[in-house]
Amino acid sequence: MCTPEITEPPANGLSYVHPGPDSPWNTYLRQIDRVMPHLGRLSRWAETLRRPKRCLIVDVPIEMDDGRIAHFEGYRVQHSLTRGPGKGGVRYHPDVRLEEVMALAAWMSIKNAAVNLPFGGAKGGIRVAPRELSLKELEKLTRRYTSEIGLLIGPQQDIPAPDVNTNAQVMAWMMDTYSMNVGATTTGVVTGKPLQLGGSLGRVKATGRGVFVCGREAARRIALPLEGARVAVQGFGNVGSAAAELFQQAGGRIVAVQDHTGTVWREAGLEVAELMLHVQRTGGVGGFRAAQGMEAEAFWDVPCDVLIPAALEGQITAERAQRLHARLVLEGANGPTLPAADDVLTGRGVLVVPDVICNAGGVTVSYFEWVQDFSSFFWSEDEVNQRLDRILVQALQHIWETAEQHGGWRQMSLRTATFAVACERILSAREMRGLYP
Ligand code: GLU
Repeated sequence: MCTPEITEPPANGLSYVHPGPDSPWNTYLRQIDRVMPHLGRLSRWAETLRRPKRCLIVDVPIEMDDGRIAHFEGYRVQHSLTRGPGKGGVRYHPDVRLEEVMALAAWMSIKNAAVNLPFGGAKGGIRVAPRELSLKELEKLTRRYTSEIGLLIGPQQDIPAPDVNTNAQVMAWMMDTYSMNVGATTTGVVTGKPLQLGGSLGRVKATGRGVFVCGREAARRIALPLEGARVAVQGFGNVGSAAAELFQQAGGRIVAVQDHTGTVWREAGLEVAELMLHVQRTGGVGGFRAAQGMEAEAFWDVPCDVLIPAALEGQITAERAQRLHARLVLEGANGPTLPAADDVLTGRGVLVVPDVICNAGGVTVSYFEWVQDFSSFFWSEDEVNQRLDRILVQALQHIWETAEQHGGWRQMSLRTATFAVACERILSAREMRGLYP
């Protein structure tokens, strides 16, 4: 019998995952390594952070429009439930795999603790190319997946939300399926729902708004004026487009935008509203006529002051980190920067506001939505935005001070400072709860 060759050692002894060196789970483990020396007596509990509490893999069979039966692989990972119910999005992507969902769930634990939300960390996904499915097939896929992960989710157990390629409609189907299965309309089981079904005002743009708020605060601290700042954005979905809009309103120039359909560049600044219309019509930024097209790799050489990676993981490699011009990197995506690239950026004096605080605006407003659903009392958009602003400003201030206590962000990166704040919260809660039995 032929045994498959395993080229990478299993990550910290987990027999079920063999991540490559630059894979998201390994990136996460290396980020944890860096915070370890700062955890003091709590490091006794640190192994807790290196293994997910639960991983569920499900088979999702659906009947396709042409009568075929297709099977998809789905996941829900609960990395930590120490500080509250699991919380985190569901992603539909052809490259989704368990090891990636584990990392995304772990980053949710860190993010929720960094902002001090009363949640643990979780994430889900289906290995599927959603653009190849009809709306009906997408609905069947979502409903069957929701039923299969019904073992784990619930308004007090684990609360999914949108992520890459999922949206308010997908959340409506998830809410309905869960509610049908339990026999009661349960709006609090997912967040990011449509407004008519217990959604929150301000949720759709919350992640992009959070990126802007973190960017504004970080830029002030390194004396980078937003007025006239040149901004390059990778990913023009929910996060990238909302952030670009706010930077433009603050006087910034959006000089380059890249997505899966192409890269567009305009020195004088792209008109964000027009680009959004183009994307609505054509499905991507490629072919936008009010700008020049360019090679994908050239995106990293575009002269800019602020760079917003808001697409997928692993985009900023050490090599790209050497080339990029920005003084400030705002991580709208989860896990866009590899650990080696982090060191290059810090060495070059580029300030990175890490994903685990920079894109926390989405889950913060998800928390508001969950609270509003429970109290059946809904807030105005202004109230949502003001509370979001206040929470992120405070969280970033605390992280900044933590880095300052260690000699400033050139000595302790904001990523390590955020991990230090979050891990301290998670592990002290773990210690107080104690081990069962
Ligand atoms: N998917 C978003 C994230 O990565 C939001 C998660 C949520 O709202 O629960 O932070």
